[in-house]
Amino acid sequence: MLNRKKVLLSGITATGKLTIANYIGAIKNMVNLQEKYNSYIFIADLHALTLPIEPEQLNKNKNDLFALYLACGINPDKSTLFFQSDVLEHGMMEWLITVNTTIGELSRMTQFKDKSTKIKSPNGMDTIPTGLLMYPTLMVGDILLYDADLIPVGIDQKQHVELTRNIVQRLNNKYKTSFNEPNAYIPNVGAKIMSLVEPTKKMSKSDKNDKASIYLLDDPEVAYKKIMKAVTDSENKIYISNEKPGILNLLTIYSALNDLTLEESENKFKNKNYGELKISVAESVKSLLINIQSKYKNMLLRINELSKIGAEKATKIAKENLEKLMKGMGLK
Ligand code: ATP
Ligand code: MG
Repeated sequence: MLNRKKVLLSGITATGKLTIANYIGAIKNMVNLQEKYNSYIFIADLHALTLPIEPEQLNKNKNDLFALYLACGINPDKSTLFFQSDVLEHGMMEWLITVNTTIGELSRMTQFKDKSTKIKSPNGMDTIPTGLLMYPTLMVGDILLYDADLIPVGIDQKQHVELTRNIVQRLNNKYKTSFNEPNAYIPNVGAKIMSLVEPTKKMSKSDKNDKASIYLLDDPEVAYKKIMKAVTDSENKIYISNEKPGILNLLTIYSALNDLTLEESENKFKNKNYGELKISVAESVKSLLINIQSKYKNMLLRINELSKIGAEKATKIAKENLEKLMKGMGLK
């Protein structure tokens, strides 16, 4: 049998404006790996419905995300780029996964615990959308539809990939299927970029505070200023330490954007002050944004054409893998 080219799958939820953390934690690695892997990269618009979102907002987010993937270097000739909701098999696969999970294992996911605690009311569960609990079953389904080997993600998604491995084992045992057990691909530097205003909290595109994140579509001068104002500490000495989360975050962003290890950056800045470090980080961020934004507008014009091609290619594989599980489960 010919060796099958390994499959990479990754998606980003269309919940808000893309941040530099999404770029460093996920997109940058998808771009680097797309030569070597048969890559399926999607805009997770179904996942974006997990928490309430205005229809116009969702529509804008998903189109921006498509164009930004392209502007960041996803090459549609190498990667299959598509909207999740264009491939109807995602919904069907989710159900087949749902019936193979338990409420216990889903409610133990840290993302569910974090996000549901924030919105829990005195009435208990009535304010927690079911989708928040089910999010991982949709994600496991995404991975199985393309029988993926490698999932480039930030560290926050590691637990969901581990759940996927457990479910794959369960399905393969129970239904005699042969789905791959996927591995998360987590970058050495930048697996968890932190908020610029609260560096003990991860940067998230759904953070309400605009100053906490650098958005890929921020005015580059505004982004520059956000870095200059990033919360640090008062020691004014630059070295790697978990006790200095603000400085560690700036060193991490600098390292990721300049392809350096953390130690190399520490060395470069060890005799400098915080102001000098911030200027270097701000300049790296600004030039990344200028580069991405110079391509973004043209990419918006290509969405219709490219999303059709992507959806067709993705649907073909998704159908094949869905059929395998349906057969195993006795539906076919
Ligand atoms: P949300 O607040 O809506 O959950 P998010 O910023 O966490 O948004 P996701 O769509 O959940 O973004 O995740 C997209 C990708 O970005 C995932 O691979 C995720 O692991 C990665 N990612 C998210 N936040 C970070 C972060 N702070 N550092 C590194 N990678 C991150
Ligand atoms: Mg997230």
